[in-house]
Amino acid sequence: MLNKKSVEDIEVKGKKVLVRCDFNVPLADGKITDETRIDGALPTIKYLINAGAKVILCSHMGKPKGEPKPELSLAPVAKALSAKLGKEVVFAADDNVVGENAKKAVAEMAEGDVVLLENTRYRIEETKNVAEFSKELASLADVFVNDAFGTAHRAHCSNVGVTEYLDTAACGYLIQKEIEFLGNAVNNPVRPLVAVLGGSKVSSKISVINNLLEKVDTLIIGGGMAYTFMKALGKNVGDSLLEADYIDYAKEMMEKADKKGVKLLIPVDTVVAKEFNNDAESKISENGIEDGWMGLDIGPKTVELFSNALKDAKTVVWNGPMGVFEMPNFAKGTNAIANVLAEIDATTIIGGGDSVAAVNQAGLGNKMSHISTGGGASLEFLEGKDLPGIVAINDK
Ligand code: AMP
Repeated sequence: MLNKKSVEDIEVKGKKVLVRCDFNVPLADGKITDETRIDGALPTIKYLINAGAKVILCSHMGKPKGEPKPELSLAPVAKALSAKLGKEVVFAADDNVVGENAKKAVAEMAEGDVVLLENTRYRIEETKNVAEFSKELASLADVFVNDAFGTAHRAHCSNVGVTEYLDTAACGYLIQKEIEFLGNAVNNPVRPLVAVLGGSKVSSKISVINNLLEKVDTLIIGGGMAYTFMKALGKNVGDSLLEADYIDYAKEMMEKADKKGVKLLIPVDTVVAKEFNNDAESKISENGIEDGWMGLDIGPKTVELFSNALKDAKTVVWNGPMGVFEMPNFAKGTNAIANVLAEIDATTIIGGGDSVAAVNQAGLGNKMSHISTGGGASLEFLEGKDLPGIVAINDK
């Protein structure tokens, strides 16, 4: 368990509190199409308002690459947030983020007021963690709170640099929950601990596989990355996704699992198709895949094998779909695993990115114990890496 100060451990009454949120919401024609991230930030913001803080919010949105791009302004977020909080959120529309508007708005704040700064990535310094912008951000506030898990694996001005110029840095409720669930799962799990890994590439999950083999009781591998493991067992994989450079690595990992007494499960049958297309001719293939066919989902026997391994789990971490879940005909394996996780009596943690989309597509989001808000960040957490955004928060 990481021993970091939370928002409840610090003095905030009457103080100017700079809060790094994750308001990187999807936009279409200037309208927010999914407000999940704004909702996720509300507990910390409400706590600070009620505690009598002067709440200064900041966030990035998209990738403006150091230039003010009106289509990536946080103005729509200020509006949505005002509606949700039932009070005005003053938007400081400065192209340089910490400009005349921001300074004036902050100077006029009373306890419980809320100000939102403009997109931090309007400044070129932000993603390079340049001191000048960190100092400007810090100059607005007395204390800092980080509640953006999605950027915790990056050292930027608004989550790491700024902490150099303020004495107090705590985490908000969102980050606290991420640390609790992901931290406990990896470092102090109720066993059996089962990890389910999928997605397209072994190469992007190498460090996760390696680190999780030190921790788990069972490791399940599905998705496109499974074919490299099948090949390593000497099976034909036809036209399926294969990373030939990683066959030796897959062998190594299977040997490591063997030595550690970790059960490593890979698919025993596969839904194969003639083309990468939802309507392509398809069939179930056992014992390898013929040339001319490609694997796009796990087969029914594999669903059974994986489900059985999950049945008695007490903690499950899932990252990466079992097949091409974006195509309904090849989403069955992923949906089946989502359904098993929804039913078992275990702490179930969905580790960001495509697995979150898959669980929500199956309508089972609310059946999981924890859905991580950070794709890259949760992956790096599972790799066992220190996340700079978390390291920068004061210890208790
Ligand atoms: P990742 O970003 O590595 O987690 O990969 C997610 C992507 O993997 C999704 O877009 C899936 O469609 C894709 N994927 C899963 N299984 C397969 C497969 N058998 N063949 C090709 N792509 C797959």
